[in-house]
Order: sequence, then structure tokens, then C-alpha cells
Amino acid sequence: MDYKNKFDLGNKTSIVTGAGAGIGKEIAIALAQFGSNIVVADINADHAKQTVKELQSFNITSLAIPIDVSKEEEVIRLVNNTMEQFGKIDILINNAGKMQKSRFEEMSIKDWKNILEVNLDSVFLMSKYVGIQMIKSGGGTIVNTASISSFIANKEPQCAYNVSKAGIHMLTQCLASEWAKYNIRVNSIAPGYTKTTMTKGLFENAENVKDIESLIPLGRVAEPSEIASLAVFLASDASSYTTGSVIHADGGYLVW
Ligand code: ADP
Repeated sequence: MDYKNKFDLGNKTSIVTGAGAGIGKEIAIALAQFGSNIVVADINADHAKQTVKELQSFNITSLAIPIDVSKEEEVIRLVNNTMEQFGKIDILINNAGKMQKSRFEEMSIKDWKNILEVNLDSVFLMSKYVGIQMIKSGGGTIVNTASISSFIANKEPQCAYNVSKAGIHMLTQCLASEWAKYNIRVNSIAPGYTKTTMTKGLFENAENVKDIESLIPLGRVAEPSEIASLAVFLASDASSYTTGSVIHADGGYLVW
């Protein structure tokens, strides 16, 4: 068995949503290192362009597409543009997301819907329109960024986020079930505390960092690269018998 070959993503095309920053950007870099062409899809056009610039050092083609992944017509345009440019989509990384901390009794229905739209409806829309192409072309892999917050409530109230991430967990299982017959594998990653712009505020306070680290068996928060390498595994043939799974990358947080 040639195990190295299983990680080879040469001639593949990946769409990574939220690849303008944080975990998504690092996933784009990791997939590119294994040879995949990359579509960088992010609502922040400047950040998307910057990621593409950084991908230029790898021998692949990359394209920045500004998009709000919660809007159906924009998702359709993204998929059409990708098909025109690359002719197929092999890998979809549903990673774009947004956080809102708010006490439940103070949360407006508008804010609630917005978080659900950006974090969960987007996974429905992207999976649907990319999945249609994958079914036509004979298969593919989808990796969703869930969270430890898919499984637990946080002490700091952020209910809409947790509900959206719990939804991603079940959506992963439903899609894995429905699309196994089309040779489409669907898995998710549940990152724990990771150093990104989303958690920047949290880690600015040294006391906070100490408190969080004391809850993590490995005793530290994650670098985005430690999440990205798991995405490569799940996107590649190295995980060919894995579907409908969630893999925790949380330093052991949930075992405590
Ligand atoms: P993390 O990497 O921890 O998930 P970040 O805030 O660092 O968090 O990254 C999230 C990315 O998702 C950002 O680049 C952000 O611009 C992107 N994003 C947020 N909302 C949308 C959206 N509606 N459509 C596309 N991308 C989005």
C-alpha cells in the first residue's frame, strides 16, 4: 500500500469557505500543499485576495471569490464560476462562520436568524449546489467545521452559535447517509479553542487564557494548522472508509 499517495490531492479542486482568515485560511494552505487547486470563498474580498497571494508559492491554481455563503444566488454563482474555471469540484470545506455572544433574553430574532443563516443555512446551500456537481462527476468529499460547541453549552452565553454548530453535526450525518451511494463522503471537525480572529478578544486577557488552558488536558489552545491537517486527512483518500464522523480536535477538552 502506498500510503503517501492517499494524501495526494494533485489535480483536485477544492472550495474553502471562510478561507480569508483563521482556520479556513490554514485549511486552504494545507490542501494546496498537497496539490489541490483552491477556490478561496470569503465575504471579505481583501482577505480572500490575500490568501490567494499566499497560495502563489505552491504549484497550484487559486481563485478568490467574494461571497456571502448565506445567500442562495451567490452560492449558485460561486459554483458556476468554479465549474467554468476548473470543470469539477472534488472537495468542499464548509468553514465560514460567525460568532455572537449574547444573553438569550437579550437576543433579537434578527440576530438569531443571522447566525443560523451564516453558520448553518450556508452549509445546506453550499452542500446542495456543490453536491449536485459531485453527484454528476462521480463523487467527492465534504468537510464541515463544527465545534466543541456542537456538544456543550458554553459558560459565556452564545446560544445561536452553539445551536448552529449542533445543526452542522446532524447535517453531516444526514448527508453522509443520503450521499454515500454517490461516493460522496461527509465528515466534520470539532475544533476546540483555536487562535483565530474569532477568539482574539478572548485570548487578549491573560487570566482568560489561563482559565481556558486549565480546562484542556493538553494544557494549551490550538494553532489553526493543527485543525487544518485534520481537514486534509478527511478531504483525502487517507480517510476513504470514514463518513458521517465528527473528529474532535480540542486538546481533550470534551473528555473533561
Ligand atoms: P475561525 O477561523 O475561528 O472560524 P475567523 O473569524 O478567523 O474564525 O474566520 C471566519 C471566516 O469566515 C472569516 O474569514 C470571515 O470573513 C468568513 N465569513 C464570515 N461570514 C461569512 C459569510 N457570510 N460568507 C462568507 N464568509 C464569511
